[in-house]
Amino acid sequence: MSEKNNTQSQLRNQLRKKWAGRDLSEVVNDVTLQLMDDTGDWDPPLGITPKRELIRLAIGIPDSQTVPKEEFLSATAETITRPGEAAFIYGFGAGYARLRAQLAERYSRDRGIAVDKDWFQLTNGSAGAIDLICRTLINPGDVIIAESPTYMGTLRNFRGVQAEIASVPMDEDGMLIDELSSLVGDLKSQGKRIKFIYTISTFQNPTGATLSESRRQALLQLAADHNILILDDDAYGELYFGNKPLGTLSGALSGTLSGMSGGHGVLTVGTFSKTLATGLRIGWIHGEPELVSLFGQMRFAMGLNQIMVRMVSNYMSDGVLDKHTAYIRGLYYKKMTILADALEQRASKHLYFSRPGGGFYLWVGLNNLNEDDVWRTAWEEGVAVTPGKNFFVDRSGENGEHIRIAYPWTPIEQLEEGARRIGIACERVAVGDVALPRG
Ligand code: PMP
Repeated sequence: MSEKNNTQSQLRNQLRKKWAGRDLSEVVNDVTLQLMDDTGDWDPPLGITPKRELIRLAIGIPDSQTVPKEEFLSATAETITRPGEAAFIYGFGAGYARLRAQLAERYSRDRGIAVDKDWFQLTNGSAGAIDLICRTLINPGDVIIAESPTYMGTLRNFRGVQAEIASVPMDEDGMLIDELSSLVGDLKSQGKRIKFIYTISTFQNPTGATLSESRRQALLQLAADHNILILDDDAYGELYFGNKPLGTLSGALSGTLSGMSGGHGVLTVGTFSKTLATGLRIGWIHGEPELVSLFGQMRFAMGLNQIMVRMVSNYMSDGVLDKHTAYIRGLYYKKMTILADALEQRASKHLYFSRPGGGFYLWVGLNNLNEDDVWRTAWEEGVAVTPGKNFFVDRSGENGEHIRIAYPWTPIEQLEEGARRIGIACERVAVGDVALPRG
C-alpha cells in the first residue's frame, strides 16, 4: 500500500472510532430527541416470536393484487414518451396543473361544490399534506385539537412541529361536540391559541366512526364562532360499502347538503394511497385558494415526483379510477364481512365491535382482557394486530381495551384463519396463559 493510501486509511479508522462513540442526543434537535424515545407504533412486540407464519392484520394499505399495474404501465409510458421536458424537471408551486384540474372536476361532480384547480395543492400523500399544513400554520406551543383516539401517524406530525395536542373523546357518531365546546372554552381561558381542529370525519382511523350530520353542523358553527380552522382528513371517504357517506365537512357525497361548508374555513386532505397504492405518495390539500397558495410557498423539497403525478393524471383521464374504486369497495366489503363473521364465530365471548360502513378498520373492544396481552399473545399465535393505546396521545388508551384490525391488505383466504388465531389469543389471555417476552 502506498504511503498516501496508508495515511488515508489511518484517518478513516480514526474517524470511524471517534464517531462510533457519538452521543446522538447532542446531535439531534429537541423534537427528534422526543420522537427518538417514541417506541415505534409499527414495531412488533419485543421478544415475541410467532409460532407460525404471520397473518398481517395491522397495516392500513390496499390489497396489492388490486394495483392496476397494466394501466400504470401504459400511463407511465405515455408520460415518458410524450414530447417535452416537463416530466423530467422540477415541479414547483401547487403541483401539476392538469391533475389539480382533474381533482377539481371530481370534487365538483361528486360533492356539490364548484371548485377549480386553485383550490388544490398536490402533496406527498396525505401525510405530506398534513405535514405541510403544520409547517405552514403551527408555531411551537400552538394547540391542535384532535379526536381521541386518532391516527397515530398524524400525532407524530403534530409532535414534529411542537404543537400542544388537546383531545376530544368520541363515540360512534364521531367527536363529542359538547366536550369540544368546553375544551375550547378552557383552552381559551388559559390564553392558548388553537390553530385547528383535526378530524377524520368519515370511516375514522382507528374507530371506523363517521361524524353525524348534526355534529358536522355543530362543529362548523363552533369552529367559525371561535375563528378556528378545521382540518378534515378524508383518507377513506370514497371507500364506502353500502350507501354513500356524508362526505367531508367541505362537500357532501350524499344526503342533504347541510353539514358542509363549501370548503370555507375547512382544509380537506385527500390521497391516492387508499384507493390506488400507498407507494405512489400523491395526495392533496383542498381549501380556499387564499390558504392553498400559502402551502406552495412552504415547499422546500423542489416539488413532487413529476413522472408520478403525470402517470396518475394519465391513468385517471379515461374514467378508470371510478371503476377501480367501485371494484375495491366491493372487495373490502367482502373482506370486512368475512373477518367480522369469523370473529363473531370464534371470539364473541371476548370481544365486541360495530361493522363499519366503509374504510379499512375494525375497532375491536375487549371484554376484561388487557390489550397489550392480547397483542403479544396474538403475535405469538401468528397474527399481527395493533394495540389500541397507539392511537391515543400519551398512549393513555382511556376508553377501555381495544385492538385495531385492518383487513384490506390481507389475502381473503387468510382472514378466517386470522380471526381464529385472534380467538385463540383472547382465550389464552382469559385463562392467564399470556405470551411473555423471551431472551
Ligand atoms: N391519514 C389517515 C387517517 C391515515 O390512515 C393515513 C394512512 N394510514 C394517512 C393519513 C397517511 O396516508 P398517505 O400519506 O399514504 O396518504
